[in-house]
Amino acid sequence: MKEAYLYEKLDSARVKCHLCSHGCLIKDGSKGLCGVRENHGGTLVTLVYGKVIAMNVDPIEKKPLFHFLPGTSSFSIATVGCNFKCRFCQNSDISQMPADYNRIEGHDTQPQDIVRRAKETRSSTIAYTYTEPTIYYEYALDISRLAVKEGIKNVFVSNGYMTEDCLTDINPDLHAINIDLKGFTDKFYKEQCGAKVTPVLNSIRKARELGVWVEVTTLLIPGLNDSDSELKDIAGFLAGVDPNMPWHISRFHPTYRLTDKGPTPAESIHRAKDIGYGAGLKYVYTGNLPGDEGEKTLCHGCGNLLIDRFGFSIRKFAIKDGRCPQCNAEIPGVWE
Ligand code: SF4
Repeated sequence: MKEAYLYEKLDSARVKCHLCSHGCLIKDGSKGLCGVRENHGGTLVTLVYGKVIAMNVDPIEKKPLFHFLPGTSSFSIATVGCNFKCRFCQNSDISQMPADYNRIEGHDTQPQDIVRRAKETRSSTIAYTYTEPTIYYEYALDISRLAVKEGIKNVFVSNGYMTEDCLTDINPDLHAINIDLKGFTDKFYKEQCGAKVTPVLNSIRKARELGVWVEVTTLLIPGLNDSDSELKDIAGFLAGVDPNMPWHISRFHPTYRLTDKGPTPAESIHRAKDIGYGAGLKYVYTGNLPGDEGEKTLCHGCGNLLIDRFGFSIRKFAIKDGRCPQCNAEIPGVWE
């Protein structure tokens, strides 16, 4: 077991965790809300360091990141655990394993072995994904630092609940992040995820400010976060941070503890896309609708087709030196 980073020792062997915005106060012998950080006699330890539960080579488009090294492979890993309790979690078997089954599983894998396998699979990036990378931060940071030395970049797929200290700490070694903005009200975040919205908004702003490439995803759930007013709030916020930031609007399918809602109608996704463009965003994408027009990248200057996608595969790539070959507009993103 490894001592945690980013915590504070208090009196009577209590500790305060500064890794995520829950800021858990943890007494001796107890765990934080994520269930993977435990106080051992006044020392906070991580219970998931090196315990890999999922490992795959994915297209970077699957994260989703559409403006970051398109067409490349991302060596993708996770440990169990999450600091959210989303009722609609798509990976609840691993993210909620500590909470639902009081179990922590995973194959012991050293950081250097992850980097070696990323190199062997010619992956341009390592993605910390599937569950919440913040809660296995020590492991992700150690891997990231080794990866950078080998010319491999690092990407987080996150709920954005990490503290500013955490983001600042990993910043030099973090190159891109996809942050879920799951709704725009504390009511939604509290009832559906067990969290609050403001820390997520702060992380989106902060990551952008630090120069990390940021894309944002919203899973659209019928009747819960798909009203025009909520979508306008989300889109307006994102456009205010940076209109170049891509927004992915993804289709919900019933799962885990949210099975009384049907899949999101395609019309709702398209309505959200229009709201995004109406708010001034330059790149809005539809997700979980393979073959939809909203998967394509069109130049914000002239509408030229720059990247033709089907699902996660790329059929055409026409950006030249980061610009549109037709109107020469600079296309926001990291292309090489
Ligand atoms: S990372 Fe875990 S222990 Fe730390 S504040 Fe967040 S939920 Fe609590």
